[in-house]
Amino acid sequence: MQGKTLFLYNTAHRSKERFEPLHDPVSLYCCGPTVYNYAHIGNLRTYIFEDVLKRTLVALGYNVRHIINITDVGHLTSDEDTGEDKMEKGAKREGGSVWDIAVHFTQTFMHDIALLNILPPDKWPKATDHIPQMIDLVEKLEGHGFTYKTSDGIYFDTAKFPSYAAFAGLDTENLRAGERVEMGEKRSVTDFALWKFSPKEEKRQMEWESPWGIGFPGWHIECSAMSLAYLPQPIDIHCGGADHIRVHHTNEIAQAEAATGKTFVRYWLHGEFLVFEKGKMAKSGDHFITMATLRQKDIAPLAYRMFCYTAHYRTPLSFSWDALAASAQSLTNLRRVIGSLSSQSKASSPSVLQIASALDPFYTAVADDLNMPRAVAALWDIVRNESLDAHLRRVCAEQADNVLGLELGRMPAETVQTVVGADGATMRLECTTCIPLDICDKLTAILSERRRARREKDYTAADRIRQKLGAAGIIVKDQPDGSTTISIPAGICTDDDKKALIFMD
Ligand SMILES: [Zn+2]
Repeated sequence: MQGKTLFLYNTAHRSKERFEPLHDPVSLYCCGPTVYNYAHIGNLRTYIFEDVLKRTLVALGYNVRHIINITDVGHLTSDEDTGEDKMEKGAKREGGSVWDIAVHFTQTFMHDIALLNILPPDKWPKATDHIPQMIDLVEKLEGHGFTYKTSDGIYFDTAKFPSYAAFAGLDTENLRAGERVEMGEKRSVTDFALWKFSPKEEKRQMEWESPWGIGFPGWHIECSAMSLAYLPQPIDIHCGGADHIRVHHTNEIAQAEAATGKTFVRYWLHGEFLVFEKGKMAKSGDHFITMATLRQKDIAPLAYRMFCYTAHYRTPLSFSWDALAASAQSLTNLRRVIGSLSSQSKASSPSVLQIASALDPFYTAVADDLNMPRAVAALWDIVRNESLDAHLRRVCAEQADNVLGLELGRMPAETVQTVVGADGATMRLECTTCIPLDICDKLTAILSERRRARREKDYTAADRIRQKLGAAGIIVKDQPDGSTTISIPAGICTDDDKKALIFMD
């Protein structure tokens, strides 16, 4: 894919632009989680899109330096600098210390993204480890005359930054007139806290000394301080969810550019929401779906990743359990087709030129602002194209998977094979590790016999067969849903520790 031009939609200019980085490695900053609760799958959609971006850059031959921060303090419940600190609120809910909550939810977040096959960043800076850098940035802003003090904190004076409204296309006049926002002592609705003072009547668990008094940083200053601490300015790419455009990223730009006098970021990319029928995904109630929810419903994490590829990252993606199940099936089908290519493959290795030519439609889709629905369709066209050698098709799938991250080379977990037993009954065999399921006729006949006995309610006969199989190391377990799980030891299947699910009509 090297040599292919990458086009990305830049929110800053509302247009698709040719990507030309300033730095090697390409600097990539992604706003990280506020670690006060589990991440819901809508949040995780953003990290999947960012992972595709990073994998694409690598596939194009770029080196990448990738930072995802951990917000473990200072994110208030509203964007207008009112409400409680989400972390302190989370600690009250969970009954632990704020520090414990932060560690716990940081770990669960990292576990979630590992399940989704999201590559870890080069660094995970935590806000609480960068308080001096934040204070330094606020002091710079103070020195340049961009701040003012109220009774509850140090604020950024947006009137002093004339291009404030440009990034999000804000209509600041109407914002003032139209929104009933708690202004407090703020001079303007768009002004935002850089440093908040600890409330006098309340002892916060997280607070620090500063030149302005004991308190804690504003959420926006955290990202500016941490991104500038680890990446050279201007940063090549900064990503986040579309909900960050209006306030969080607008404020990050204002404070970083006011402090340094330089362009903060060159390419801004934003992922759209995962939506339910009634609009944006909520973080509460039935719509609070996490990786744990998927596990409870036996949905593989990578099925969710596959589902995310059914829409472009800049398009809202409508969630439904049926659509998710369809993506799970589609991933299984894709793996099965690719798995079957391995057994058909010839020994000869395809040339670099052959691979590049076959994969061209796939890479063209990816390089066109990460058009994953088109990329997945292009991969299907390649693996099903019988005019191409099977080995070539398989190599193409492996390379495409460096971008897709779907573990396509893994033998399908849900491989299905239909076998007609000795009694004429059809069995559907699902093997957790191999394709095709290598199960001998004799065993098939015995299992059919047992199934017939159970159907005729001859449980003594069924049990006798189960014990006979058990003596041979084959474990037979009847499931409440009517299916039977068979664990087959090495020697019967080709690999060790095979498990097969067997259904019969
Ligand atoms: Zn951020």
